[in-house]
Amino acid sequence: MSDAVTSGKGLWTGSYYNEGHGGHDGLFDKLKEECGVFGVFGHPDAASLSYYGLHALQHRGQESAGICTADADNFHYFRGMGLVKEVFDQSNLPTLVGTSAIAHVRYSTAGESKLANAQPLVFKYREGDLAVATNGNLVNAGEIRQQLEKQGSIFQTTSDTEVVAHLIARSKHDDIVDAVKDALQQVIGAYAFLILTKDKLIAALDPNGLRPFAMGKLGDAYLFASESCAFDIVGGTYMRDLLPGELLVLDRNGLTEDRFTESQTRATCAMEYIYFARPDSDIDAINVHSARKRMGKRLASEAFVDADLVTGVPDSSTSAAIGFAEQTGIPYELGLIKNRYTGRTFIQPSQELREQGVKMKLSAVRKVVEGKRVVMIDDSIVRGTTSLRIVNLLREAGATEVHVRISSPPFQNPCFYGIDTPSRKDLIAAQKTIEEIRQAINADSLYFLTQEGLIDSIGRKDGVENGGFCTGCFDNRYVTYVNDSENAVGCGC
Ligand code: SF4
Repeated sequence: MSDAVTSGKGLWTGSYYNEGHGGHDGLFDKLKEECGVFGVFGHPDAASLSYYGLHALQHRGQESAGICTADADNFHYFRGMGLVKEVFDQSNLPTLVGTSAIAHVRYSTAGESKLANAQPLVFKYREGDLAVATNGNLVNAGEIRQQLEKQGSIFQTTSDTEVVAHLIARSKHDDIVDAVKDALQQVIGAYAFLILTKDKLIAALDPNGLRPFAMGKLGDAYLFASESCAFDIVGGTYMRDLLPGELLVLDRNGLTEDRFTESQTRATCAMEYIYFARPDSDIDAINVHSARKRMGKRLASEAFVDADLVTGVPDSSTSAAIGFAEQTGIPYELGLIKNRYTGRTFIQPSQELREQGVKMKLSAVRKVVEGKRVVMIDDSIVRGTTSLRIVNLLREAGATEVHVRISSPPFQNPCFYGIDTPSRKDLIAAQKTIEEIRQAINADSLYFLTQEGLIDSIGRKDGVENGGFCTGCFDNRYVTYVNDSENAVGCGC
């Protein structure tokens, strides 16, 4: 039986002082990153490092943030709704003492925006205190939850993370590492887990390695993060990514490299390279910006079009646009500019403003595009509404032709592994032909990168099917059991 810890410093306070970003962004139709984790073992400033690490991972979740530290005697934790800089300040960060920490930023699907789900989740179990933070989604969490509830378990949250905490607490093993292995052997899905006790930090990656999870070092301290860019910000260095099915344990004996299961088909999320991850991150030692540039080059080889300039939809398509320009010799220009300061708005926009909504976030640069044939590179098309608005922005600014090139295959299927996607009926590529999509977004021409082109561009020579990448949202082939009747599954964090 797990109870939320109610003692110790830095209890979370329930300050709902803003509504956050929960749910789909009605103004900008993009897929949502879903959660980032950061961990530290063996550093006197574990909380401060976590704070900066979370800043670097802020793009993966803006709904809530939390840090839990451990010293020899106690856990200290604080969680709140909002951005990292809004949740933590001089009144709470210094209370988070200890040399180890786990930390989390969360994006939630609509309706789940509440502090109870903010992580790290902290529990008491028979062997002591336990804190858990995760990124991903368990496809069998609902079934396990039902079974546990029938057996008397009471859940405090709607998060998959709590399911794993219950499984750990109910394990027949007293040793925490054995209990974690036991729990993870029962769940199916995509996950990067960080588990903290007073004397151990455990990191584990799902058997297919679906979510990114990197290990780094800072002096003698060990760091873990959803993306390696979080190591740079604290002056750490990237060592390697966790292997599928791997379980790493840090305690007073140092690092123990272990496994909780045999590695299965590797299937790193291809969308991390295409869109989610920051360009300065390396995943499996492959730099994300460089991979995107190669996607742009490949796109140019597969679907050249004569034009006056190439522009990318900022920020995630800039790298691919540079690659397209390099390959073709067509100049790269800043035809579209992102307004970086829209952030949260306090009012719901009226329908009229919503119609124009994309202008709050993007502007076409008239002096650059006027009278020009433009190649517009974007990373994906989800519902198609944003693409139409951006093409129209360019046309209103005087572009004579707009040729759209997408640096991924058509996004036709929902994700079951922790990415918040609309249901199939709302995915334009699942409902229309390429020619119909071209007409719907008002483009002069439209081309999507082939799946082969995508995998070659990322460039990992795994020698396994699909290059060792998950491409389920493109080809409807998922590496685990999924319950497709649910159609779309958001983040289970
Ligand atoms: S289905 Fe798509 S978004 Fe989901 S893990 Fe696989 S590649 Fe990533």
